[in-house]
Amino acid sequence: MKILVCIKQVPQKDAPLKLNDAGTWIREDVSYEVNEPDAYALEEALRQKEKHGGEVVVVTAGPARSQQVLREALAKGADRAIHLEDDKFATLDAANIARALAASIAGEEFDLIVTGLQSDDFGYAQTGVLLAEVLGWPHATIIIGIEKTDSGLRLKRELEAGRYQHVDVPLPAVLTIQSGINKLRYATLIGIKQAKNKPLRKVALAEVQSAIGDNLQKIERLYVPQKTKKTEHIEGSAGEIAKKLVDKLRNELRVL
Ligand SMILES: Cc1cc2nc3c(=O)[nH]c(=O)nc-3n(C[C@H](O)[C@H](O)[C@H](O)COP(=O)(O)OP(=O)(O)OC[C@H]3O[C@@H](n4cnc5c(N)ncnc54)[C@H](O)[C@@H]3O)c2cc1C
Repeated sequence: MKILVCIKQVPQKDAPLKLNDAGTWIREDVSYEVNEPDAYALEEALRQKEKHGGEVVVVTAGPARSQQVLREALAKGADRAIHLEDDKFATLDAANIARALAASIAGEEFDLIVTGLQSDDFGYAQTGVLLAEVLGWPHATIIIGIEKTDSGLRLKRELEAGRYQHVDVPLPAVLTIQSGINKLRYATLIGIKQAKNKPLRKVALAEVQSAIGDNLQKIERLYVPQKTKKTEHIEGSAGEIAKKLVDKLRNELRVL
C-alpha cells in the first residue's frame, strides 16, 4: 500500500506558553514536537507497510522549523517526505490546510491517507475529514484497529463508553487515527543516519496558492481565562446539601 501520513508540528506539551503581543496566538519561541496522534498514525502506516509492502510518505504544512517532524518520521522508517514550507501554512484554517495538502499530492496515487484524530494545539479534529471531502474519498475517524481485506480495510472505531464499531471501507480512503492504537517505535541510529539521504520535496506556497481560499474561521482573541474565586455555602441537612451539590455540578457547572 502507498500510504501518506499527515504530520503536524505542535508546541511541546509542557512548554511554558505566553501570549504574543497581538493576543491572537502564543509566542513562537517555544520547543516543538510531533503532534501525538500523528506519531501513532505514522507508526500504524509503518506497520501496514511491514505487513503488506508499499511505501510510506510523510507530509507537513508549516514554517521552516516544522521540517523537524519530517526528519523524525524519515528516521523512524518513512521512505520520503513532502514539506509545504511557508509561515502562512501555520495560520490557515483546517479547510485550507486540507486543500493545500491535497494540491501538494496531485498526481500521486495513494491507496491510503492517515492523519491524527486531532492536533494537540488547536484540536479542530477537522483536517483529516476535510481532506477526504476535497479528494472525494471515503473517510473514517477515531480509528483504533486496521485490518487489510480483499475489498479494502476492516476498521475498528472507538465510540463512547468503551463501545466499538467495526466498519469496512474501500480504498483509497482517509483515516483519522486515535492515540494508543499501537506502540510507538524509536528511531534507530542507522535510521537517523539514513534519514539525511532520503528525498524531501519542498512545496512553496505559490505552488498551491490557487487551491487555497480565505480563512473561513478567524481567531479574534486568545486569552487566559480569569479564575474567579467565589465560595458558596450550601445550607441544609447532609442529604439536602448532597442533593443541591449534585444539582449544581450537573446543571450549573455541567461536570456531571
Ligand atoms: C498564529 C496562528 C494563527 C492562526 N489563525 C487561524 C485562523 O485565523 N483561523 C483558523 O481556523 N485557524 C487558525 N490557526 C489554526 C491553524 O492553522 C490550525 O492549526 C489548522 O486550522 C488545522 O487545525 P488543527 O490544528 O486543529 O488540526 P486538526 O484538524 O485537529 O488536525 C487533525 C490532523 O490533521 C493533520 N494536520 C493538521 N494540520 C496539519 C499540517 N499543518 N500539516 C500536516 N498535517 C496536518 C494532522 O494529522 C492532525 O492530527 C492559526 C494558527 C496559528 C499558529
